[in-house]
Amino acid sequence: MRDLAKLPKAHLHLHFTGSMRVPTLRDMAVGHGVRLPGALLDGDPLRVPADERGWFRFQRLYDAARACVRSEADMRRLVDEAAADDAAEGSRRLEIQVDPTSYAPFVGGITPAVEIVLDAARAASAAHGVEVAVVVAASRMRHPLDARTLARLAARYAGEGPGEVVGFGLSNDERRGDTAEFAAAFRIARRAGLASVPHGGELLGPSHVRDVVDALHPDRLGHGVRAGEDRALLAELVEREVALEVCPASNVGLGVYADTSQVPLRPLVEAGASVALGADDPLLFSSRLLDQYVAAREVHGFTDAELADLARSSVRASRASEGTRRRLLADVDAWLADPDPGPGTGADALSSASHPPAG
Ligand SMILES: [Zn+2]
Repeated sequence: MRDLAKLPKAHLHLHFTGSMRVPTLRDMAVGHGVRLPGALLDGDPLRVPADERGWFRFQRLYDAARACVRSEADMRRLVDEAAADDAAEGSRRLEIQVDPTSYAPFVGGITPAVEIVLDAARAASAAHGVEVAVVVAASRMRHPLDARTLARLAARYAGEGPGEVVGFGLSNDERRGDTAEFAAAFRIARRAGLASVPHGGELLGPSHVRDVVDALHPDRLGHGVRAGEDRALLAELVEREVALEVCPASNVGLGVYADTSQVPLRPLVEAGASVALGADDPLLFSSRLLDQYVAAREVHGFTDAELADLARSSVRASRASEGTRRRLLADVDAWLADPDPGPGTGADALSSASHPPAG
């Protein structure tokens, strides 16, 4: 069993506030005199039913965490720690998602908020050896005109490298807002060369995925797991090469599936879908990127060759440059080609990692 922390991968679904370490959240809350709900600090993974009230609880906790991020220093710390944590788990390319709106009041507007995140992403890339690019995401809870404003702002920083905006997203409760009304914002983003990466197909099923596909022309779907409930739709996503950012811990935390074994990872992969595993919100689900790969191995029985394929899918679905993608794919090949260190737990693999592989 190869060490999954050493498997090079791209992380395409991680939210800015949701990436936060619990001790960091505690520091910020104390520093700003903000009282936090105990549920955010007790290290217990969030489990809520997949209904309006469950989502409301998730949103309330998320908002409470977001309310602790109140300065440029806080924002920089978040990006730096997200990159460090990702790098430690073998992520070589992180496309972190941020809606700058809520941080804007503390740093002088949405433009400085985006620029701080981009600058922090550049610094973190250099410091941790993981390329950190940014997805700017609008919220379904706000007016579609706000989404257009964000899309125009995101377009100004479009690129593919560290500290550049690579995509435009649409987040928050899938059941809110009229998807078609966000089409104009996505047109602006697409014209600027940004990937279209809206959420869809987690809380709602195939008919909503259909709406998102028709209106927003996604390159990748945030989640998209429930597209598998309609074989024709899934076949169309495969045909159109729409990648699925599958986040098993999120699906279970939000009650979409009863447990990890119910997440249809294998059926999606076997149908030919390009799947990129993601952590979504480690702060709330107490589960990071590596945990998703471990679950694929331990719960879904993925072999090392299949896990390498998952990593390749994540790299190919990223917006990294051709050169970066080639390098990462070669490193995935090298991971798979390494002599098998033999049976052992992940911890064994980690502790033996400093020694050259035997035989
Ligand atoms: Zn998400």
